Amino acid sequence: EAKRAGRDCCMVFDPAMHERVAQQLEIENDLRRALRERELFVVYQPIVALPGGRATGVEALVRWRHPTRGVVTPGEFIAVAEEVGLIDAIGEFVLRTACACFADWRTRLGPRAPRQLNVNLSRAQLRSSGLVELVASVLAENGLAPAMLQLEVTETLAAQDEVVRGTLRQLKQIGVRLALDDFGTGYSSLACLHLLPVDTVKIDRSFIAHAESIEYHRVLIEATIRVAQSLDMVTVAEGIETAGQAALMTRLRCDHGQGWLYGRPQEAADLERRINESARA
Ligand code: C2E
Ligand code: MG
Ligand code: MG
Ligand code: MG
Repeated sequence: EAKRAGRDCCMVFDPAMHERVAQQLEIENDLRRALRERELFVVYQPIVALPGGRATGVEALVRWRHPTRGVVTPGEFIAVAEEVGLIDAIGEFVLRTACACFADWRTRLGPRAPRQLNVNLSRAQLRSSGLVELVASVLAENGLAPAMLQLEVTETLAAQDEVVRGTLRQLKQIGVRLALDDFGTGYSSLACLHLLPVDTVKIDRSFIAHAESIEYHRVLIEATIRVAQSLDMVTVAEGIETAGQAALMTRLRCDHGQGWLYGRPQEAADLERRINESARA
């Protein structure tokens, strides 16, 4: 007993843990400043139709221009933002920024503008009470039809939680589209797909990466596509980096692709320039 208490006691002073807590505190303070000082920004990655590669939409992805660390990707701060209660503010910033940008493209690029805007939502956002009202008002403020916006959620949070399921239903009621992100990771279940009110299934990048070399992955992808199609859901292959992967996803009749082969996430002005250049070509 004493021995165990001793061990527990030691854990408090575990230098690695102390380091982690200190680091987290630093990120938290940093993030508060980032929101205040407008260090966050949004990049956009094209989503294209297969085959052909014609851009149909874009996914908005948040970035952080840190004064000393350079550009920081969401993998390094979204989880902390959730833990310390800053994710709602970050999520609102991304939604407002991306919708304003998308509306601006529509007025200035006309038929060349992307047709659909995808925005990621985290678990905490889906559990916060004002989300549906926020989405509705941001759409209205920017003069966007709800179906132009697709919100991406991960399945682990979509499945079990009753509050989350209620929010998803309300989002569907106002006409927003929903995508299941990173499908195949965690305990995803093809058998439960029909229970979720989603329009689109995004097959996780880890499966695409091995689709050509591991037959089991290819079989899983194919099964996912068939089940999704039978439910009238659109399929997207994430993380397409090579022509070989694109050809395989096309052969498996995946509807859309997204990945470095078609374009990296980029700032609005750069994506716009690219759209204008390809229109002239
Ligand atoms: P995600 O929603 O699955 O986004 C796709 C991620 O894959 C992005 O990473 C993108 O840059 C990366 N990616 C795209 N194509 C390729 C490729 O061909 N190869 C490789 N290796 N990677 C590719 P990113 O931007 O670092 O975002 C990571 C995750 O952070 C996102 O995964 C999403 O879950 C989350 N996230 C990003 N922005 C937001 C946001 O505004 N709000 C919330 N709640 N989460 C966000
Ligand atoms: Mg996503
Ligand atoms: Mg994804
Ligand atoms: Mg993913």
